[in-house]
Amino acid sequence: MKSLKANKLKEKVIDNGFCSGCGVCTATKLSPFKMSLTKNGNYQPIVEDVNLLDSNVVCPFGSNDYDETIIAKEKFQNTKDIKFDTQIGYYKKLYAGHVNEGTFREKGSSGGSISWLCVYLLENNIVDFVVHVKESVSEGVMYQYAISSNSNQVNKGAKSRYYPITMEGVLKKIEEIEGKYIVIGVPCFIKGINLIKNEVQLFKERIIFTAAIFCGHLKTTHYLESIISQFNITKSEVKTFDFRHKIKGRIASDYGTKIITKGGSSQIKLNSEIFGTNWGLGLFKLKACDYCDDVIGETADISFGDAWLPDYIEEYLGTNVIVTRNAQLDKIITDAISRGEVNYNLLSPEHLYQSQAGGFRHRREGLKHRLAKAIEKNEWVPKKRVLPKKEKNSKRRKIYENRILLQEKSFKTNNYTKIDLLKNELSALIKDNQKLNNKSLLKRAINKVRRYLIK
Ligand SMILES: Cc1cc2nc3c(=O)[nH]c(=O)nc-3n(C[C@H](O)[C@H](O)[C@H](O)COP(=O)(O)OP(=O)(O)OC[C@H]3O[C@@H](n4cnc5c(N)ncnc54)[C@H](O)[C@@H]3O)c2cc1C
Repeated sequence: MKSLKANKLKEKVIDNGFCSGCGVCTATKLSPFKMSLTKNGNYQPIVEDVNLLDSNVVCPFGSNDYDETIIAKEKFQNTKDIKFDTQIGYYKKLYAGHVNEGTFREKGSSGGSISWLCVYLLENNIVDFVVHVKESVSEGVMYQYAISSNSNQVNKGAKSRYYPITMEGVLKKIEEIEGKYIVIGVPCFIKGINLIKNEVQLFKERIIFTAAIFCGHLKTTHYLESIISQFNITKSEVKTFDFRHKIKGRIASDYGTKIITKGGSSQIKLNSEIFGTNWGLGLFKLKACDYCDDVIGETADISFGDAWLPDYIEEYLGTNVIVTRNAQLDKIITDAISRGEVNYNLLSPEHLYQSQAGGFRHRREGLKHRLAKAIEKNEWVPKKRVLPKKEKNSKRRKIYENRILLQEKSFKTNNYTKIDLLKNELSALIKDNQKLNNKSLLKRAINKVRRYLIK
């Protein structure tokens, strides 16, 4: 099933909280939906015209049988030298490395590869437009999807935005403006793009490439607001906000948050000193993300993530892992390697998996358990590529169940800017989380000394 009735989508996916906000359900002809920001700080479709609830729409969480493996198979099975791995799906080649040319790496979140590729595609007239996430021009919203058509505009969009976004507006623009587009997005958004391309010929013709960013999970607006409040300023004072400020002398994952205020002052705090930024806790996470089994964007022509691997972690400027599935994009990369514009080495599937091992465990083993728990409570769940199965290992089971509670509580909390109250509200669950994930004191001490030594 590639599309479904809008009323079914509302009843199953939206009303049960499984929407990730991508907005592709608004882009089919006669869709009754428009996207709206909820009080919990996430995008969700609302019904604009009840008379259209019988029309067909698409949704990455609702178009059940057309899963990531099937989409990827249709797209890539005939690509020369394509391989398949049960964990990482279809791939042509895997790389780890960074951009040498210009300031892409310094200005990017990781190795700067996404921005470099987008600039290359524009400057060589392979695409006309890059669809990605940039600072917002709308009042009250920090970031939004936008369309860039030159390198300067692309570079302004560099860096990861851990903030809710929707493609509703840019999909309308793609319909209006003829041209060749590349769309950048997290895995469920790219699955959504594949679904809408299947349904609407115009999108099929215009969106010629998709690039996925690996994804741990999506955050609500409250994540950013909780960070701002720890800088003792208000949101209206913020001019620029960097979720991934690289700090010389620290390992790549030990980055900070940098805020420049409208008054011109600049503040940097280490993320390890900002409450709620530990990704393992999953605070302000969307429920949909706990029901997604695609970590690396298996349906995209190319995917980019962080090389969270011992060989690369020491480089504070950051290193990408890259998965190619499209022959033309892979050729662009191999040519750039030979020209020395990028410094990429081939990576094994095992290393690629290891770079995201926690993510894969949570989205595969953990997901089996979450599905089984929800079904036990007679709740509707989206059909996934893993089957529901209760976790037998009691420690892992407790880890997964603790994470569910942290997600639920932090998603609904009203205390996101009142950090003392927030800490109080979540402290018991966070303590349990730390006990369950307990790293030995010795290991923590070694890490501290290591960080100090490479300063
Ligand atoms: C919500 C989120 C979760 C992530 N989780 C993981 C993870 O678990 N593991 C991992 O290895 N990597 C993860 N990443 C990806 C990682 O942070 C880097 O984006 C990636 O390594 C690319 O780095 P780069 O230097 O090549 O990108 P850059 O050159 O900095 O370019 C980044 C590009 O991504 C676009 N972008 C930024 N935020 C978004 C967004 N929310 N949605 C769509 N496009 C966006 C920007 O507009 C820009 O074009 C995540 C990113 C996001 C946004």
